[in-house]
Amino acid sequence: MFEYAPAPESVRPQIKEHYGLFIDGEFVDAESDFKSVNPATEEVLFTVAEADEADVAKAVAAARRAYETVWGPMSGTERGKYLFRIARLLQERAREFAVAESLDNGKPIKETRDFDVPTAAQHFFYHAGWADKLAYAGHGPDPRPLGVVGQVIPWNFPLLMLAWKIAPALACGNTVVLKPAETTPLTALMFAELCQEADLPPGVVNILPGAGAAGAAVVDSAVDKVAFTGSTAVGRAIAKAVAGSEKKVTLELGGKAANIVFDDAPIDQAVEGIVNGIFFNQGHVCCAGSRLLVQESVADDVLERLKERVATLRVGDPLDKNTDIGAINSAAQLERITALTEAGRGEGADVWQPACDLPEQGFWFRPTVFTGVQQSMRIAQEEIFGPVLSVLTFRTPDEAIAKANNTPYGLSAGVWTEKGSKILWAAERLRAGVVWANTFNRFDAASPFGGLKESGYGREGGRQGLEAYLDV
Ligand code: NAP
Ligand code: MG
Repeated sequence: MFEYAPAPESVRPQIKEHYGLFIDGEFVDAESDFKSVNPATEEVLFTVAEADEADVAKAVAAARRAYETVWGPMSGTERGKYLFRIARLLQERAREFAVAESLDNGKPIKETRDFDVPTAAQHFFYHAGWADKLAYAGHGPDPRPLGVVGQVIPWNFPLLMLAWKIAPALACGNTVVLKPAETTPLTALMFAELCQEADLPPGVVNILPGAGAAGAAVVDSAVDKVAFTGSTAVGRAIAKAVAGSEKKVTLELGGKAANIVFDDAPIDQAVEGIVNGIFFNQGHVCCAGSRLLVQESVADDVLERLKERVATLRVGDPLDKNTDIGAINSAAQLERITALTEAGRGEGADVWQPACDLPEQGFWFRPTVFTGVQQSMRIAQEEIFGPVLSVLTFRTPDEAIAKANNTPYGLSAGVWTEKGSKILWAAERLRAGVVWANTFNRFDAASPFGGLKESGYGREGGRQGLEAYLDV
């Protein structure tokens, strides 16, 4: 294998030493602060104000004012212009946002530069186009916004999850109060600066950094709707908290997707899809293909080629353009991944990891492949949310579907076969919101995304995703 020379990214974003809460168009201080660290080095990047209940109430009041006096009455055409402006500004500052995201989150620059930031911009462009065409979206002739929306997002795609939440909400005429994840507030705060630059009316977007308590305060506040992306445990708590109130809620939760490889699949292509399915974004992906189901007759061949390919993945400095796998986002997440991997060993699965050096500072985990996995094992049932693949085998297509559906989750699935009829047959039977065929982890603003069962309810993206932000 060729060795690569380091190719460090040279752009450095302007990161402030301290950020406030973004309420009513201004950055304001709070009673307490917390730190955000770079998980690849454990260095503190900046300090940031932490929102409490009173701050949430102020932000919701500002959002309410903006909704009633400016944003709600504004025509869709005018709202669209603001969204186009935000999308263009995001594109102009794309490299800066990409580097900031890699610093705060630990994910490789290759991914933030080529996926996170362009896809976030795409969501604003896409929804800007809907703002004046809502009457044609299939949700009635004159669909109305809901009002003020409280949004809580996770750390795995900080800017992209913000875009998935804010773009449709604003396009439909709502105003928002958003809480980014505790470990990754940076790009949300830079987005707040971008809202100022775009002259977005004050109060339309409010950004409140904080931990779980701030998220709970947003859920409990006087918002008209709660939109949440995160774990199933917190999603369940939110559903309980809003039950019996007038608040609408959408939940995008966890997953344990099956990636099914039939014996007639193009093997090399499938191996690329398996690698992308589980090692993209360190496996911190709700729809990750974390369970590989491979037909017994081709299992040895697939596994051999898979290990060969995984051994070429480069783990290390997120800001090196050659890096495939960056840092694990936090010490807590590294602990969870380590504990579940230990459980897999303890339950008797065979573990394989490539030999690779890991940096001394920061949070790192080697790409890991478990074989000999039984359906009852924790590594086959629980979401690991890390670079860990569990491999199971099957003999018949019916067995593949039965095993794939044997999970409380239902977010996504993948099917690899050369036969179109088999793809359609499988897609019909898989209990998953998204099914990819001969590809994996593909996203588009025009395509709805969301889960079944314990993966949540509601859709994001596409015409269907608008429904979550309209009073229909
Ligand atoms: P999490 O613990 O549920 O956190 C998600 C967000 O909720 C964070 O902002 C968190 O704040 C906040 N939060 C924590 N406790 C809360 C409470 N009681 N009330 C309100 N908000 C609260 O999830 P995570 O571990 O950060 O993220 C990983 C999970 O998200 C995985 O299960 C993954 O599958 C899921 N996910 C799903 C999708 C999807 O589209 N379906 C996309 C991405 C991720 P803190 O930052 O302080 O914890
Ligand atoms: Mg951080």
